[in-house]
Amino acid sequence: MPWYREAHWRILIALVVGLGYGVVAAYAGWGRFTADWIAPFGAIFFRLLLLVAVPLVLASLVTGIASLSDLNKLSRIGGKTIAIYLATTLVALLIGLTLVNVMQPGRMVPDSVRLTLQQSYQGDVASREEMAAAVSERGPLQPLVDMVPDNIIGAASDNRRMLNIVFVAMLFGVGLMLIPPERAAPLLALFESLDAVIIKIVEIVIMFAPIGVFGLIADTVTRVAGDSPADVPQLLGALGFYCLAVLIGLALQMFVVYPTLLRLFTPLTLRQFFPGMVQAQMVAFSTSSSAATLPVTMKSAQKNLGVSEEVASFVLPLGATINMDGTGLYQAVAAVFIAQTLGIPLDLPAQLTIVLMALLASIGTAAVPSAGVVMLVVILEAIGVPAAGIALILGVDRILDMSRTAANVTGDVTVAAIVAASEGQLAPVSPETRSLTKGV
Ligand code: ASP
Repeated sequence: MPWYREAHWRILIALVVGLGYGVVAAYAGWGRFTADWIAPFGAIFFRLLLLVAVPLVLASLVTGIASLSDLNKLSRIGGKTIAIYLATTLVALLIGLTLVNVMQPGRMVPDSVRLTLQQSYQGDVASREEMAAAVSERGPLQPLVDMVPDNIIGAASDNRRMLNIVFVAMLFGVGLMLIPPERAAPLLALFESLDAVIIKIVEIVIMFAPIGVFGLIADTVTRVAGDSPADVPQLLGALGFYCLAVLIGLALQMFVVYPTLLRLFTPLTLRQFFPGMVQAQMVAFSTSSSAATLPVTMKSAQKNLGVSEEVASFVLPLGATINMDGTGLYQAVAAVFIAQTLGIPLDLPAQLTIVLMALLASIGTAAVPSAGVVMLVVILEAIGVPAAGIALILGVDRILDMSRTAANVTGDVTVAAIVAASEGQLAPVSPETRSLTKGV
């Protein structure tokens, strides 16, 4: 098949064309037309992906855990997974903090621009602060309490409560593991069948990915540019160094840290890893949601990289929910940048507080667009920086959200590959073999 018919190339082309269209549309004043006639296709694609996210997490985690066959194996794989997730997030945070302290992007923002930014995003700040206030008024153990839902239907009805679904799925999986096999069989068969149906639906949805990605990107660009695209270069000029610090950090994490880990702990080559990941990365970039990308992430890890179903169905849904290296890195850079811009010095204890808070915040961040900013407010409050400071960065947040989500997803798959390799459950697929298989 010619290269441009391959799924990931078609999505990449859609992404580039969508970007180009967005820029032209912003300058030509086609914002209304784009919102009415193009954005809906992106929204439909996004909704379809999110629609399958909850049943996918439920079905794949239940079957994944039940297939681990005993509690020892579950605690071994679970322990390994969580330890590596925490370690990679910690590395990301340290990279972010080092960069923002060395580059000092906050010193580049002129006073006049700072005032304008603060004024123009006042309204947005208020709504984010309200959401964050609810989070930060809680006791120290509240995140643990929040993990446990009191109603399955309630938890399943909100994509932001994916951690609840993970919890319910784990309970079910463990319960199924502990009852006699003949009694577990019917329910297990039901979940396995649900899993298979969801995977089929994902394949169908992904066929429309190029249209969806085009719609999402075109809409994002016209929205960000708004009615005054001429202001965008000025905004990028003032916040350019900040964006650069985040993007350099994400690039280091994606192209140095993960490849090093893969090299050390798996037989995967980079020629296998990156082409195998690219489709999930592009869907993450255009949807800004790890949860929406999860169906694609799972397919890519299994079909393209050879991660076993047993490991993928446990490690990836968990990772999409709790492992957000890109988000943590961004939160660390953003917190220090805001403090620098407002002229608030941060000593070592304050920076260590950022590491701890960002580690927790990245776990608690919902896998949906912009969730990272809400948790950033909580971090700012912990280090005594006025939360209204987020007004400074909201204007460029979308592009950073897209990029950090791509990093989040790459981190999840890297850890899945490492865990699979350590369990003897990684069978790398050669690029040649893969190009013979259709779709993902
Ligand atoms: N959009 C990110 C994700 O879903 C979360 C964030 O806002 O950082 O992975």
